[in-house]
Amino acid sequence: MTLHNLTILGATGTIGVNTLDVVARHPDRFNIVALSGQNQIDKLVEQCRQFRPKYAVVLTPEKAQELKAALAGLAIEVLYGVEALETVASLPEVDTVMAAIVGAAGMRPALAAARAGKRVLLANKETLVMAGQFFMDAVKAGGATLLPIDSEHNAVFQSMPEPYTGNLHVHGVRRILLTASGGPFRTRAVETLADVTPEEAVAHPNWVMGRKISVDSATMMNKGLEVIEARWLFNALPEQIDVVVHPQSIIHSMVEYQDGSVLAQLSNPDMRIPIAHALAYPERVATGVNWLDLPKLGQLTFESPDTRRFPCLGLAYDALRAGGSSAAVLNAANEVAVEAFLDHRIAYLTIPATLSKVLDRLGGRPASSLDDLSAIDTEARALAIETITAR
Ligand code: NAD
Ligand code: MG
Repeated sequence: MTLHNLTILGATGTIGVNTLDVVARHPDRFNIVALSGQNQIDKLVEQCRQFRPKYAVVLTPEKAQELKAALAGLAIEVLYGVEALETVASLPEVDTVMAAIVGAAGMRPALAAARAGKRVLLANKETLVMAGQFFMDAVKAGGATLLPIDSEHNAVFQSMPEPYTGNLHVHGVRRILLTASGGPFRTRAVETLADVTPEEAVAHPNWVMGRKISVDSATMMNKGLEVIEARWLFNALPEQIDVVVHPQSIIHSMVEYQDGSVLAQLSNPDMRIPIAHALAYPERVATGVNWLDLPKLGQLTFESPDTRRFPCLGLAYDALRAGGSSAAVLNAANEVAVEAFLDHRIAYLTIPATLSKVLDRLGGRPASSLDDLSAIDTEARALAIETITAR
């Protein structure tokens, strides 16, 4: 049994909390060195009291003060800022980093972990969407081990031969099949989609997740981002990645081989399973998740995604094919549009309309450095805001 020393970036989020749930079940295997959070200081304090990390990281000096006061008397060093996130992601005493910050903010610390050669448990899909090539290069250069947390990619990873060499052809893989639940609006009358509220959009039928990813699931942008994520994780071409709607969320994804075999990973939908898989990899540990009861489930069903209902999925394939910085543009515009929707500033259908406009204007440009990418990201956000306010 290996003892892993962990940094958890985004400890207060859904993935972070689930990670700590698994960690708490195996104190002999996992030791927490650093935790980070942004606004939920009470939750971070509680986590610090329970797991006694060496470091706790927040974003601002004000939050750091608040945290310090609450942790007085405990031997926990409080740090703040993006650089501190990079520091705790690359500490020598840490071997495993859970990258579970949401959105573009998660990229720099995830890159730092990759460069430092850690076992990187990647939940922050936005890093791969924005900077897939740069991130994969950093993993290679740093000698890092990349383990996917996104349930679909974790399922694909589990269904691939080991060790996966990054060459689908060599392993006889024909296709990656990402499953999608279809979210809360799979069967809702298309004419009524214009009236969707944020509250309806975040009510996912099978998963409890952060608000941003919940809206992404409703629009199926999440699946689009996951197609791009799969492209980089498994070095697959867009035409080697297909999406199949599977409303029960029991099969988490599949790999189809040249001989016609399809391998899948099944489980109850609970993020503790992919998290535990990656945490203990290559060993297996208990998660507390209920055993799968197939007779009780009765049936698993499948359908093709409705591209008219879910235009965001098509936009993601467009961005992937256009290459260059297109996926970063799409991701930036999406973050802006989803936030505006959650704030009741735009209607649900304005999300794809905004993305499409921003992608038309800014897609396809090359990006030869991370600085290029971040400039394009800024530009895409500005254009998305402009598009939204001009409406
Ligand atoms: P969440 O909103 O519940 O949590 C986000 C975490 O990031 C929190 O700890 C928050 O404090 C931190 N954070 C937010 N903004 C930050 C910033 N600017 N700087 C530093 N920290 C910041 O999100 P989540 O659902 O846990 O998702 C986290 C990541 O995992 C996302 O990239 C998401 O796409 C991915 N993911 C989530 C799930 C899921 O089931 N929740 C599944 C697959 C992938
Ligand atoms: Mg997923």
